[in-house]
Amino acid sequence: MKKWNGWGLEDAPPTPLAHEVIQILNTIFGELHPSPDATLRQALARVPSPKIDNHLLVTTDPEDRLRHARGQSLPDWVALRSGRINAFPDGVAYPSSDEEVKSLLSYASKVGARLIPYGGGTSVLGQINVIPGDQPVFTVDLRCINQLLDFDETSLLASYGAGITGPQIEASLNVRGYTMGHFPQSFEYSTLGGWIATRSVGTQCYRYGRIEDLFGGGHIETPIGQLDIPIFPASSAGPDLRELILGSEGRLGIITRATVRVSPLPQRESFHAAFFPTIGHGFAAMREIIQARVPVSMVRLSDSQETENSLVFTGRKLLISAAHKGIFGIGSERCLMIFGVTGDSKSTRLAYRQASAISRAHGGFVVRHFIGNEWHKSRFKSPYLRNTLWDVGLALDTLETALPFSKAMAAFEGIKDAIRSTGRDIGEVILVFGHFSHVYMDGTNLYITYIYRRSQDPDETLENWKKMKSAASEVILKRGGTISHQHGVGTDHLQYLPAEKGPVGMQALSSMLKTFDPQGLLNPGKLIDN
Ligand SMILES: Cc1cc2nc3c(=O)[nH]c(=O)nc-3n(C[C@H](O)[C@H](O)[C@H](O)COP(=O)(O)OP(=O)(O)OC[C@H]3O[C@@H](n4cnc5c(N)ncnc54)[C@H](O)[C@@H]3O)c2cc1C
Repeated sequence: MKKWNGWGLEDAPPTPLAHEVIQILNTIFGELHPSPDATLRQALARVPSPKIDNHLLVTTDPEDRLRHARGQSLPDWVALRSGRINAFPDGVAYPSSDEEVKSLLSYASKVGARLIPYGGGTSVLGQINVIPGDQPVFTVDLRCINQLLDFDETSLLASYGAGITGPQIEASLNVRGYTMGHFPQSFEYSTLGGWIATRSVGTQCYRYGRIEDLFGGGHIETPIGQLDIPIFPASSAGPDLRELILGSEGRLGIITRATVRVSPLPQRESFHAAFFPTIGHGFAAMREIIQARVPVSMVRLSDSQETENSLVFTGRKLLISAAHKGIFGIGSERCLMIFGVTGDSKSTRLAYRQASAISRAHGGFVVRHFIGNEWHKSRFKSPYLRNTLWDVGLALDTLETALPFSKAMAAFEGIKDAIRSTGRDIGEVILVFGHFSHVYMDGTNLYITYIYRRSQDPDETLENWKKMKSAASEVILKRGGTISHQHGVGTDHLQYLPAEKGPVGMQALSSMLKTFDPQGLLNPGKLIDN
């Protein structure tokens, strides 16, 4: 069973912190005094009676309701860990067919209830949270609709129930010699329906595509009827209805089935590292690798702080001492780039040679396998560190955007500065670092992590977060970035969406929601404010 107030499974051993990491954290933050978390029993005691309790498919068990109350945002963590959760679903349904989903929609319509579609609950912007109000709210957890329904090997298409998780998809394909290749860092627990509804992106999108490239079509139960989106290799028959569903955050309908494009498993895959004297050198190399269409499967360039963290957090003494001896280049501005090559032996050799040559031409020092493969092995492990950091008294959050190359570097530094400067205003040291990890021909995403000391008072921890988040979001908008490259909108980005979409765009979105859901049954208060 998944942890009710953190990342991973209940019985997963805590991720240990290497001695060097503890020393660094102590130097930065001083002595930490973590406040204790609420227990499950204390949190359960605050679950109120449900407003309504008369549908066969809905359980009102308090623990089910608690476990579906919050996602994985920083405000969610503060609420769950402190036990101060302001709203719970009145019940949770686990439908196992389209018919059952339909029955829940018509029940909601009859009794004026609201439904929150729920995949893995890993979203980080309040997407699955209950907005307090008078109407009953039910969470619709899709976990039982998770079967492989069809596999068209000739066309490389696979159809699934939308509640299927990343590992379940890959298990079903890998035995046949295929992969979907969609690996968000939340891969272990997030679902196909959630990926589509949030426009998710995986680490190897440069090879396999974002979810909008992978999602071919599917079946959606909407409050006004069924929407079937057929699969075509391409179509010029008017606007593409898939675009309405991608990023719809559970507001248009409940996706019950989806067909995705798959690829044969690669014959070879390896990951490599290159160290650059400064981020400017690395950035120029990364851009050239992509714009020269070198067939890498991923590129990720860390700033100097994240580079140091990556070296030290491995806990590998050999690596740390090699780094300290200057084997990977010296200087406090040293930056690490990881790149992956995926395919057959000829194409991977060529990609490795080309990416290495460009890196060297920009002053890079290329390390063949070790660090890159280490990154690949641990790519789903870093979220577990958030549990450990919380336990020692630190809160961690991430934010992200995307911009054209010409604006990206200045925005990257501007956002980090805004967070640091908010830290100074509130009298806290903030450890801020980041990377570029999804790179396109015209630009890149920016992904920023910040760690700060938790206060004894959870409300203060939340207030401090709000100040940092809003300072960073303002800079994102001012610099011309999107409010989200991969996490979506939910409740936390809602106020920033109009700046990006404009009045006509917002009106179109609002009309679209009204068309599909005239009574406003589905996930109100997410994506747009109604
Ligand atoms: C540690 C961590 C790492 C992450 N890494 C990445 C990353 O690398 N890339 C990335 O893109 N995101 C990442 N995320 C964010 C998150 O995992 C994604 O947004 C993911 O797509 C959410 O999927 P889910 O199944 O958990 O959806 P949920 O959180 O359950 O739901 C998300 C939204 O989708 C809607 N929804 C879910 N299922 C359906 C359905 N069947 N029909 C209609 N609506 C539905 C919900 O109503 C909600 O609005 C990360 C999150 C965490 C906590």
